Amino acid sequence: MTTTQPIDSVRRAISDALRPDPKVLVDEWAEDNRVLPPDTPEPGPYRNARTPYLIDIQRTMSPGSPWREGWWMKPHQVGGSVSGENMLGAWICSAAGSALVVFPTLDDAKQWEMTRFEQMRANTRPLRRRIKPSDKKGSDNTKLRKKYPGGVLRLLGANRPVKSSTIRYVKFEEPDDYPANVKGQGSLIATTIGRTSNFGRRAKIFGDGTPTVEGRSAIAAQVARGDQRRWYVPCPSCGHAQVLQWERLNLDTAMLSCEECGELHDEAAWKRESYRARPRGMTEEEAAASGRAFWRATAVGEPGVASWAESGGALMAPLGWRPWAALAAEFQAAHEKLREGDDDPLIVFTNNMLGRTWRVAAVATIGADILQQRAEQYELMTAPRGVLAITAGVDTQDNRLAVVIRGWGRGEESWGIWHGEIYGDPSLPDVWKKLRELLDTPVRHESGQSMRIDAVAIDSGGHHREDVYAFARDAQMRGKHWFAIKGASSYDAPKLGRPKTQEFTWRGQAVPGGAELRQIGTQAIKTLIDGRLKLQQPGGGYYHFPLGFGAEYYRQMRSERRIWKRDSRGVKRLLWDETSKRNEAWDCEVYAYAALLYAMSGRHAETVWAAREQVYGTQLQPGLDFSAAVVHAVAMAVHEAQRAEIEVPAATSVAEPAQEATDLVADEPPADVLVQQIAARRATKLKRPGRGGFATYWG
Ligand SMILES: [Zn+2]
Repeated sequence: MTTTQPIDSVRRAISDALRPDPKVLVDEWAEDNRVLPPDTPEPGPYRNARTPYLIDIQRTMSPGSPWREGWWMKPHQVGGSVSGENMLGAWICSAAGSALVVFPTLDDAKQWEMTRFEQMRANTRPLRRRIKPSDKKGSDNTKLRKKYPGGVLRLLGANRPVKSSTIRYVKFEEPDDYPANVKGQGSLIATTIGRTSNFGRRAKIFGDGTPTVEGRSAIAAQVARGDQRRWYVPCPSCGHAQVLQWERLNLDTAMLSCEECGELHDEAAWKRESYRARPRGMTEEEAAASGRAFWRATAVGEPGVASWAESGGALMAPLGWRPWAALAAEFQAAHEKLREGDDDPLIVFTNNMLGRTWRVAAVATIGADILQQRAEQYELMTAPRGVLAITAGVDTQDNRLAVVIRGWGRGEESWGIWHGEIYGDPSLPDVWKKLRELLDTPVRHESGQSMRIDAVAIDSGGHHREDVYAFARDAQMRGKHWFAIKGASSYDAPKLGRPKTQEFTWRGQAVPGGAELRQIGTQAIKTLIDGRLKLQQPGGGYYHFPLGFGAEYYRQMRSERRIWKRDSRGVKRLLWDETSKRNEAWDCEVYAYAALLYAMSGRHAETVWAAREQVYGTQLQPGLDFSAAVVHAVAMAVHEAQRAEIEVPAATSVAEPAQEATDLVADEPPADVLVQQIAARRATKLKRPGRGGFATYWG
């Protein structure tokens, strides 16, 4: 009778697959079978009592449940990923059918297999019995494909198309991170759901993820299709059940007030009764009736689609996981950053801790029009009082150079001095000659003195790298702080990198010594400027504009926006979307800021600021005492030494330049000329070997 055995096993497999699903509830399966690894917040046997809000989510997705789809917009660190794992485990162990898990990328899938799935498989007896480890000999399982009786589990990156096959179970991981292609994230989700149609209501589709920007969040869009359940917690005083609202948390005491009676309670009080362990099988209605916290639907939703909407974010985490006091402190720190012009931490807090989408609308109110309305009455190429330093940023295009000149004061308050374009082919000398003339033009300060541009950053990212190197090198040979820059792609690149020597050839000839090239952290600088443009009151960080800047300047300044993207290392970040065509003014402002970091930061910066305050704070009068100019000159000379990265011994650092300054002052030149003369002298003195003797345009 041995010949019938294979037929028997086939028959058994078919009957297994067709057998009605056992009445397995995911939450109870998890409690019976799962042991969490030591690196989770709550290691050991899985207990529903700790995270009562996960019970309904898991139960709704149980094989026998009438609900077909479930979507949860979740904050970080509330145990969300464990509930998804539990579903997969229960699906595989209790009811036959193939399963698919879609990750943002294939790397995410591999990572999850290694760190989460293999842990769960090895520590869960029924899973161990059904799925052989992928590294075992004779097992045809791989990291991304696991066979079990009744089906196969496949892990997929959203960057790969879903092959046509019939699937019963789908889990979507972090849908907001799926690459947004031409068809959008929604289309991939819809196509994948379509693969489950053969199973009707017996299919289960679950997606969870942290939201991103309002209007563009895939998880928020799916949650809106469902019944939008919210987590209600009864007040310890009056028993009124309500969603824990972040806005009602007192940030100093970390106490939350009841929306009904107004009574303040701390986290422990809010959760003492309401988070009590539930008897097995207790429904949400029974939980509500017993004074426990519970989920309640707040919308009708599409048939068969359940969803869990924003419900106080991390405030719902069990006692000891995310103390409310710590959340309040994190929120306050994020607001502090916002005041400094950096809204990054607040966006991250809103998405990850509150589990809410970030409202771009609130940010976009500072549009081009609003900026332009702020323009002030002062002439182009003049520096209002307060300007103590001037820098410029130059962007290189194929048929023109775009330039922004900006003046800087204390606290990096700044004034637009000039913006415009120089048309011409950057591979020909003419356009560079005009740029040089512009950058050499003195700026008239309100005090009556004239100022020179301290430093210029020129982008070398376009098609005219060599021309930029040659131009910057020439300028440096003449003692100017004009340098070539290149934008760094990574999120956390320093705003201004260390100089590197860039070898290049000029008209077929290698240039001895090359040119100095610096990387700049465009992402960080853009975020900083963007934050500063939102400041309402003049003062530290504020951007001033003259009436002479045209509408196009403002339009370009607001042409870029930030979106959630993966950086070069695959980490999810809010990054500037550098796809806009005409945004040179914005880029130029970024470079002008990098030039400021070059000119006015470092050990001696304070001395320089203070000296200039004395010089430019004084109305120029005939017979002016030159002591202020001397102080300025000394500071500049010290600064030069620093720029040349030469350690000046403390004893000589003041004395030697002071002597130089005194020599020059004997001829009584105007302050700005004095500064230029000392700068030129120092530059000549400190010139590095191997750099002389070669001329490009200006030799
Ligand atoms: Zn109350």
